[in-house]
Amino acid sequence: MKIIPPFYEILDNLDQQSLAVRIEYSGRICYKSEDKIDHDSAVPFVTKMAEHGHNSVLEMGAVTLKVANAGPELLAELFATQPRYLHIDSLDEATLLVSGSVRAFREMQIFHPDCTLVKSMTECLASHHPYFFETILPASGLQNDPSISVTKVSLDDVDNLAQELRFKHRHIAVKFTVNRAVTHEIVRHRPCSFLQESQRYCRYSENKFGGEVTFIKPMFYEEGSREYDMWQKAMEDTEQIYLKLLETSTPQAARTVLPNSCKTELIVYANLQEWKHIFKLRTTKAAEPTMREVMIPLYEELVTRFPELNFN
Ligand SMILES: Cc1cc2nc3c(=O)[nH]c(=O)nc-3n(C[C@H](O)[C@H](O)[C@H](O)COP(=O)(O)OP(=O)(O)OC[C@H]3O[C@@H](n4cnc5c(N)ncnc54)[C@H](O)[C@@H]3O)c2cc1C
Repeated sequence: MKIIPPFYEILDNLDQQSLAVRIEYSGRICYKSEDKIDHDSAVPFVTKMAEHGHNSVLEMGAVTLKVANAGPELLAELFATQPRYLHIDSLDEATLLVSGSVRAFREMQIFHPDCTLVKSMTECLASHHPYFFETILPASGLQNDPSISVTKVSLDDVDNLAQELRFKHRHIAVKFTVNRAVTHEIVRHRPCSFLQESQRYCRYSENKFGGEVTFIKPMFYEEGSREYDMWQKAMEDTEQIYLKLLETSTPQAARTVLPNSCKTELIVYANLQEWKHIFKLRTTKAAEPTMREVMIPLYEELVTRFPELNFN
């Protein structure tokens, strides 16, 4: 068995990649199949996700659009669809800033195909990323209003927005490598998107996992103390039973003996507004100490880059 400390990684590198690359990277965390990523793997992977309706994976790429010539009537038509998963701001009387995930834009097209602004936004996104939309575009085409102009906003331009706009439109992905108790609490924050290493699919007896189970070092017990020794013994015994069960049963059956201390990976993707809400709840003294162990340094790192996160 392996014991490691908890840590996090802000996935800035993914922000510089195409939507398909970032969605593939995030999706493969579930199966721990990152070794299958190569130069040509992203588009087939995301195409399969879109075809199979593995929609939560498609939440891992957010995009911002600028919509021009979208006057009050068109805006009212868009709001009548009650777009729950888009962030919409007016830049002036006829110009909108709209952010959302690939999933959010796809589902707007699926459920509101006659909405004028939805058609225009879909056309823009489908021209850049056809593989996300191929299966849901109408056979007769989108029949757009040519007076509406939709353009993608670059990440640099999102970063340079006024703070109150950036707060809603800038999305940040963080990968946590923590124990299962911490991830169980993080996933209660519903406005976020999540993807997590799956104990149903990962078979920790395989070589790629070193044939062993990895546990997160508990912050509560000093190494060498009686309590730490008891904890370690419990993990060793559990690992033995888990590996034995795998000889005759599936990972999803064997995992039922795995404890909270088990290491897991979780990608959390949310806008700055939601991250601020999370930090308010998860860094204070009332929060669980193991949660604070990762959330406090993450907050301190992000607040230097995005002062609007500061809640003190
Ligand atoms: C110190 C601490 C102790 C806790 N103890 C417990 C506990 O003992 N048991 C327990 O079960 N949980 C516990 N929790 C978890 C807590 O109940 C929340 O689920 C969690 O903190 C997520 O916070 P939230 O409710 O603000 O987020 P969310 O539930 O994600 O809500 C965020 C926002 O989303 C919107 N929203 C999303 N869904 C809905 C909806 N269906 N209806 C209306 N608005 C919605 C709201 O606008 C809301 O402001 C604890 C949390 C903390 C920080």
